[in-house]
Amino acid sequence: MLLKHTTADVADRKALTINPAKTCQPIGAMYAALGIHGCMPHSHGSQGCCAYHRSALTRHYKEPVMAGTSSFTEGASVFGGQANLLAAFNNIFSIYDPDVVAVHSTCLSETIGDDLAQITQKAIDEGKIPEGKTVIYASTPSYVGSHVTGFSNMCAAMAEQMAVEGVEVKSPTINVVPGWVEPADMREIKRLLKAMKVTSIMFPDTSDVLDAPMTGKHQFYPRGGVTLNELRDSGKSRKTYCLGSWASAAAGEALWKKSRVPFEEMSLPIGIKATDRFLAAVSKETSCPVPQSITDERGRLVDMVADMQNYLSGKRVALWGDPDQLLSLAEFLIDLDMKPVYMVSGTPGKAFMAKMEAIVGEAVPEAKYKNGERADMFLMHQWIKEEGVDLLIGNTYGKYISRDEDIPFIRAGFPIYDRAGHSYFPTVGYAGGLRLVEKILDALMDRQDRDSTEEKFELVM
Ligand code: SF4
Repeated sequence: MLLKHTTADVADRKALTINPAKTCQPIGAMYAALGIHGCMPHSHGSQGCCAYHRSALTRHYKEPVMAGTSSFTEGASVFGGQANLLAAFNNIFSIYDPDVVAVHSTCLSETIGDDLAQITQKAIDEGKIPEGKTVIYASTPSYVGSHVTGFSNMCAAMAEQMAVEGVEVKSPTINVVPGWVEPADMREIKRLLKAMKVTSIMFPDTSDVLDAPMTGKHQFYPRGGVTLNELRDSGKSRKTYCLGSWASAAAGEALWKKSRVPFEEMSLPIGIKATDRFLAAVSKETSCPVPQSITDERGRLVDMVADMQNYLSGKRVALWGDPDQLLSLAEFLIDLDMKPVYMVSGTPGKAFMAKMEAIVGEAVPEAKYKNGERADMFLMHQWIKEEGVDLLIGNTYGKYISRDEDIPFIRAGFPIYDRAGHSYFPTVGYAGGLRLVEKILDALMDRQDRDSTEEKFELVM
C-alpha cells in the first residue's frame, strides 16, 4: 500500500494540501512559449526552477525542451536579477539566435519584485535586443494559480505584446487559442478547420515542435509554432475562439482590448457536444459549412458509443486535472451514459463549481467536485475509499490510487510521465472522441476479462 495513510474519514483541512492536483505556473508559460516558432523560453529565476520546468515538459512530451535561465545566485536573490537578465539577452541572441525570447518570472524573482517590462525596455534602450528580434514577457508567480494560469498568462502576453492594433477592417481569418492540449490536439483542430476551408491562426501551436518527426538531423528550432507574423496578424482577425476558459480566455480578452477582435469562450472540444458547439460556432461565423467528411467522423463516434453501450452505462468514474479538461470530459462521460462522480482540480477559479454543477447537477446528483486549495489527490482518494469507482481518468499522479485500490486507470491531461502516445493521438474532435472511447472500453473490458470466472470468460465481447 503506497498510500496506506489515507483514511476514508474526510476531515476539514484548513491549511494543508496533500499531493496537489496541479503544478507550477512557469511550466505552463514555458509550454505556451514553445508554441511560437523560433522561440527560446527563458526562466527568470534560479537554475533549479528552470531545470524542473524543462524536465517536467521533457518527461511528458518525450522531447528535449530548451530554455534559458537567469541563473540567480545569492546576489540576485537579494538585489534583484536585472543584471542577470540583461546578460542573458546578450548570450541567448548571440549564441542561440532565436527569433523571440519569451521570459517568464518565478516565485523568487516575483518576491524580489523584478519588473520584467522595465528590464525588457532597458534591454531595448541599451540595444541588447538585435534588430528584427523580439522579447515578450509574462508574470508567473507560482505561489498563486497553477501551470494552467502560467499558460494563460503567456498566451495573453502573446496577444498583448505582439498583435497589431488599430485595424478597422478585419480579415476573414479566425484566431484559435487552443488551450492546454497536446500537440496532436492542436494539429487536429487545424485539420478540422482546414476541412471546413476556414483560414485560421492558432496561438500557441506546439504541433511540429513537441511532436516533431525524427529526421536524423538536429533542428534547434523545429518547423512548427505560430510565427511572429501570424501573431502580429492575429490583431486583424475577425474573431478569436478561446477553447477552455481557464487556459485561453485571458488571451481573447487581451486581443479584444488591444485590437478590438471579438472573442468567444468555448469548452475544449472534447466529446460530441463540445465539438458540435465549436464547429457550429465557427461555421456560423465564417459561413463555411461542416463538410460531409467531418459529419461522417461524428457518425462513426456515435455508432461506436451505441454499439458498446452495455459496457459503458452506469460506470462510475473519478477524474482529476485541469478545469477545462475536466468540464469537457465530464460532459462527454455523461453522453456515454457513464457517471463522473468525483472531480478535483488544483487550479483555482470560482466559476468551476457552477460550471461543473451545470454539467453534472441533474445527470449525476451524487457527484462530488472541488477545485483550488485542498482539492488534492488525498481528498480524491478519501472519496474513493468512501465509495469506489470503476475507472480513473487523470494524469500520472493517480497511479498510486489505481494500484492501492485496484482500479483501471486511463492517463489523460498533464503530466503523463509513465506512458507514451498522448502527444501523438488527439482527444479533441470526433476522432479524439473515438480514441477516448476506445481507451475507456479497453480499460473496462480488460478488467472484465481479468475478473471473470473461467465459465464466463468470453472470446466475443
Ligand atoms: S514553484 Fe516556484 S520555486 Fe518552485 S519550481 Fe516553480 S517557480 Fe520555482
